[in-house]
Amino acid sequence: MGTIQTLPGTRDILPEEIGYWQYVEQVATQILSRAMYYEIRPPIFEQTALFERGIGEATDVVGKEMYTFTDRGDRSLTLRPEGTAGVVRAYLQNNLYAAGGVQRLWYCGPMFRYERPGAGRQRQFHQIGLELIGVGDPRADVEVIALATDILKTLGLQSLKLDINSLGDRNDRQNYREALVNYFLPYKEELDPDSQDRLERNPLRILDSKAKRTKEINQNAPSILQYLGDESKKHFDQVQQLLTDLGIEYNINPCLVRGLDYYTHTAFEMISDEDDLGSQATVCGGGRYDRLVEELGGSPTQAVGWAIGMERLIILLKKLQSSLQMSPDIYLVSRGEAAEAQGLVLAQKLRAEGLTVELDMSGSAFGKQFKRADRSGAIACIVLGEEEAENKTLQLKWLQSKEQQGMTQTELFNQVGELKEQVDRHKRTMSNSTP
Ligand code: ATP
Ligand code: MG
Repeated sequence: MGTIQTLPGTRDILPEEIGYWQYVEQVATQILSRAMYYEIRPPIFEQTALFERGIGEATDVVGKEMYTFTDRGDRSLTLRPEGTAGVVRAYLQNNLYAAGGVQRLWYCGPMFRYERPGAGRQRQFHQIGLELIGVGDPRADVEVIALATDILKTLGLQSLKLDINSLGDRNDRQNYREALVNYFLPYKEELDPDSQDRLERNPLRILDSKAKRTKEINQNAPSILQYLGDESKKHFDQVQQLLTDLGIEYNINPCLVRGLDYYTHTAFEMISDEDDLGSQATVCGGGRYDRLVEELGGSPTQAVGWAIGMERLIILLKKLQSSLQMSPDIYLVSRGEAAEAQGLVLAQKLRAEGLTVELDMSGSAFGKQFKRADRSGAIACIVLGEEEAENKTLQLKWLQSKEQQGMTQTELFNQVGELKEQVDRHKRTMSNSTP
């Protein structure tokens, strides 16, 4: 009988890779907390109606990508395909608006879409996302863009391109939609089948078709920017001015429409020029969604947010940082019954003092354990043999210089502060000498 394998579009994040994930989450947590964003953790499945209402039935996500099923209580459930709808539901259900209007929230976790899997495209994928709810001011749009930029830059991704556009308000959109349909109608037969389908349901989406002939036709399509009313134009101008004030470079892309229905005014994407991602080059996508809160039963509330695709981000990160493996401060080697028992106790005591300790439990010959100590990347090795166990002593060996010193176990604990300092000094000199 064969072993059971993962489903298509899902994968294990293995120990050799987990360092990247933890690093990204750590950087995001730090940068977002400094701007006073709180993490929120809504459930992973919700009522199907939440996504139908919140994302829109005319979208690809709702129309053909959702994991929807009926549970044993005959409810229609959906594994969340994105994070915003759940966050807004939580905001309304828990009266978070009562806390003074403005909520700064972020989330991180798995999302589910039935898509054709490929590099940077999975059926279970992960996003870090953020929502700033209750502010319509252009500063909100720019704060969230700046935070995404900070996270990506801090991770070392310097060369992402920022594309922005404005989708106007409901009125501008309606006028533009009509103009687009009128433009596309004469070409109807030449459009790809998906786009023909969208002509009635969601014509703006034709603009980000990847089909060759449709792309040619798109070149002369009217631009949304010609249909922006005065208010929308002012908002978009202010966003651009504030981005410039912050020294954030951007490019205006009138074809940027985003997949989800609820966007208004600013829409943006951060795109990689590395070819590893192919057509999956968008790492971060977001925008303003002033109509969603109302759509989900709240009072009119302006909001803006984004989501970063973690898989795509980590593909890029791996090229910059070849390894983010954990390594212990101390590798503990022991042999003989009494020494092995003391080794476990010692390891726990050192961990309690804040040191990272890997305990070799193989019981193999000292030579083999020392080899593993070298490979572990540890700074120092503690050695307990039969003699040491009997006398309650140990050998402390610095793995780089090969210097070795004997001491009693009590002495080690009396000097544990000093030991930590020595470990830190070693770490610093090591990180200085690697490019
Ligand atoms: P795409 O055009 O690539 O399908 P999208 O517009 O559907 O993206 P959003 O819903 O805006 O994507 O999600 C934000 C980000 O989440 C994307 O920019 C991407 O980085 C990531 N993402 C979306 N779908 C997937 C997926 N199936 N697998 C991996 N990452 C994804
Ligand atoms: Mg998609």
